[in-house]
Amino acid sequence: MCYAIPGKIKEILNRAVLVDYFGEERRVLNEFDNLAVGDYVYAQGGYVIRKVAVAEAEDVLAAWRELFFELREVDLRLSGGVDFRREKTDPALGRILDRAMEGKTIGKEELLELLRREDPSELDIIFRAANFLRQKHLRNACCVHGILEISNHCSEDCAYCGISTRPRGVSRYRMTPEEIVQAAMEAVETYGFKALVLQSGENPGYSFRELANIIRTIKEKAPALIFVSFGEVGLDGLEELFAAGARGLLLRFETSSPELYAGLHSKKELETRLAHLRRAYEIGYLIATGSLVGLPGQTKEDLANDIVLARELHAEMFSFGPFLPVPGTSLAGYPRVREIDMLKVIAAARLADPENGKILVTTAFETLSPDARRKGLLAGANSMMLNVTPVHYRKDYTIYPNRAHEKDDIADQIEGAIALLKDLGRAPTDLGI
Ligand code: SAH
Repeated sequence: MCYAIPGKIKEILNRAVLVDYFGEERRVLNEFDNLAVGDYVYAQGGYVIRKVAVAEAEDVLAAWRELFFELREVDLRLSGGVDFRREKTDPALGRILDRAMEGKTIGKEELLELLRREDPSELDIIFRAANFLRQKHLRNACCVHGILEISNHCSEDCAYCGISTRPRGVSRYRMTPEEIVQAAMEAVETYGFKALVLQSGENPGYSFRELANIIRTIKEKAPALIFVSFGEVGLDGLEELFAAGARGLLLRFETSSPELYAGLHSKKELETRLAHLRRAYEIGYLIATGSLVGLPGQTKEDLANDIVLARELHAEMFSFGPFLPVPGTSLAGYPRVREIDMLKVIAAARLADPENGKILVTTAFETLSPDARRKGLLAGANSMMLNVTPVHYRKDYTIYPNRAHEKDDIADQIEGAIALLKDLGRAPTDLGI
């Protein structure tokens, strides 16, 4: 099983290498000093993550070659042909979609206009336009990252969250460093993941030295692109984790509205979270961020602002997911957001960043709607995460109830994901930037 295709180095540039994938060239950053032209490497998120032995690379490539081009054909067929004029699109909507097709920046007002649409035939055109743009700029690559939930201990009181200090009866766990490394090695060595997200509640009780050691050990024993998602670790903490080898930060700002944010977090300010995201970008992290969709009191205008903010924060990966009310919390009684509203956010994010963004179909969206992955991938998304947390811990990572795939072992999740990707003509690869 493989979640990235090995590429062949064609040229060594300064801090980067030029890598060839079946005739397509990509520039990826290189942190190794033992690479030469002709070597094969795996790259993820724009970084070389490891060198691959020639025989191994050629085996994988042989298995992929034919399928790679077949999948592309399927994707092209499913994503082609959006003709607004022939389809009698409302002129205001047509203008927005035209601008996106011409590569012009879609601003807040235009995003709002998209999010306000309700007519099913118009929504269908918006989703198809988003899917077309995804194919045009990013082809059929789909990131499949693994998420490892290392602890559900948390010091914060976020009103929406099922592992915050508010809900009662949460059974808390903290994986030991050995268990974390072991689970990461299984994900990388046994299952072929090339990118892992390490996530936990905030201040779960590991020292920075422990976290840094964990990251270093994983990179040594099971090279992968590592994202950290431990909440607000402080600006110095961000530096330390980067120095240890983390290269991505998954930190949602949750909402771009300072008022909404203040109502949901008693101890925190939106500005502190944003300062982390800005500093992380300066340090060199790949940024994965976004917001909760359907929060009590959230308006469509807030959501348009969320998308613009994610873009301003240089999101490499857009992570928007539905708010799912947690029983026993003050927000338990709020209705769930509609599936169509989630799809609109995904499509609007794609129109806002057609050329670069990896847009996630989140597990929360899958929990909301059983067909989320397929529909999301056909509305502009090109990324998903599989849960590689040991199953006996997963049931306690109750950020919201009845999480999709909570009991599925890794092999089953992979099988399900690959079957869907094949059906849609997507290749589970990340060919770098
Ligand atoms: N402590 C980390 C990780 C938090 S859990 C941090 O602060 O970033 C990861 C994400 O789960 C959160 O960012 C939040 O957006 C999401 N989440 C929390 N509660 C949720 C709920 N009830 N429904 C849907 N998503 C939720």
